[in-house]
Amino acid sequence: MQYVSTRGKAPALSFDDVLLTGLARDGGLYLPESWPQFSEDDIRDMRGLSYADMAVRVMYPFVEGSIPKDDFNELVQDAYKEFGHPSVAPLKQLDADQWVMELFHGPTLAFKDYALQLLGRLFDYVLKKRGEKVTIVGATSGDTGSAAIEACRDRECIDIFIMHPKGRVSDVQRRQMTTIMSENVHNIAVEGTFDDCQDAVKAMFNDMDFRDKLNLSAVNSINWARIMAQVAYYFWAAVQVGAPDRKTRFAVPTGNFGNVFAGYCAQQMGLPIDGFIIGSNRNDILTRYFNTGVMKMETVEPSLSPSMDIQISSNFERLLAQHYAGDGAALDQALTDFRNNGEVDFGKDRWQAMCKDFTAQCLDDEETKKAISDFYHQTGELLDPHSVIGCAVARDGEKTDAVTVALATAHPAKFPAAVKEASGVHPDLPERLSDLFDRDERFDVLENDLDGIKAYIEETLA
Ligand SMILES: *Cc1c(COP(=O)(O)O)cnc(C)c1O
Repeated sequence: MQYVSTRGKAPALSFDDVLLTGLARDGGLYLPESWPQFSEDDIRDMRGLSYADMAVRVMYPFVEGSIPKDDFNELVQDAYKEFGHPSVAPLKQLDADQWVMELFHGPTLAFKDYALQLLGRLFDYVLKKRGEKVTIVGATSGDTGSAAIEACRDRECIDIFIMHPKGRVSDVQRRQMTTIMSENVHNIAVEGTFDDCQDAVKAMFNDMDFRDKLNLSAVNSINWARIMAQVAYYFWAAVQVGAPDRKTRFAVPTGNFGNVFAGYCAQQMGLPIDGFIIGSNRNDILTRYFNTGVMKMETVEPSLSPSMDIQISSNFERLLAQHYAGDGAALDQALTDFRNNGEVDFGKDRWQAMCKDFTAQCLDDEETKKAISDFYHQTGELLDPHSVIGCAVARDGEKTDAVTVALATAHPAKFPAAVKEASGVHPDLPERLSDLFDRDERFDVLENDLDGIKAYIEETLA
């Protein structure tokens, strides 16, 4: 499989180059040049497979030509073997035609593990074959950092540095990062905000000497391999609830649009999906776009679901690329206008076409808390403030013939304060993490000073 940039100017790349490159050189994002196709019989044939076996079938066409099938199979089996539930991604019934898929049984209890556990192994595999090493640097406001650290720990060809704003992530989130004692994991608590950490990462990537010397790389959600790994659980869920003989609709709590875009990929690959309902918090740029046809930036406001506190959904570019049908120059212009003016209209025809597949709804913090309480008291399912937004928009969406599956993206114990306040119940950490607060922590505190941070990274590597 070859990959092409959404902006149309960067060279086409193979899977392993796309994996290591992340962002295309023309500023675009990579997409496969065509969608692998699965027939109704292919999908029927997936019934009864384990999660990992189904994931191999769904993903292999994307890596074919770069990784032999046996090797790929081993990497996938290994990625999911230690998840905390035998089904990996269990589905639970909330109502006659409504289900929730729990995507929080990975090592850090958020759905990001489903992609990052595989990504870390793919990086190591490809780097080893090439005889290369990389230094991954990232900034986190919570979930991404721990999932990336868990994915990269003890991998021979990777060193990982994660910066978090000192004192501004929750205790659970910090400890999930700082209690990992692996030699190749380096936690930095920066005396500053998340934006300061993010700016430091950007500045390091823009310093070409530093970037080349350390072979810097990133595992953020614009990496195609993360989307690819997420496509698997859409097939998984749909097959469990009756695909290909019954249609499935998905409800997805959305921030960067990566998770829900993976569902769109599954639909392009032949999975019978009857549309997507996007859920947002008060940072509702996507909801406003689908409801009005105009995309307008506003300032980011903190909410109970911090992983969705986003104004620019970077992966939305991949959906737009489908609707610009290969006209990368026009897409580039529209997105440049958006950055400059804070507002853009992608055209009525495109908007209407996108509205055939996507509807959207937002919940503010009060509605989020009420929904946590309602679902808990009516169904017994204790949901975190992100997951509940997906379940609520699934419940409130227009009824169709399809079964609706909402994606639960984090374990309630990651957000104990909000869950306790809303439901009256304190969510316990799963047993394998129950000693999290007894473990030793290791991290270094650094001033918010770019040169100091760079020097620290270079010294640590030496
Ligand atoms: C990252 C995250 C999201 C948002 O996912 P996107 O792929 O950015 O849309 C939602 N919920 C949780 C818990 C997350 O960690």
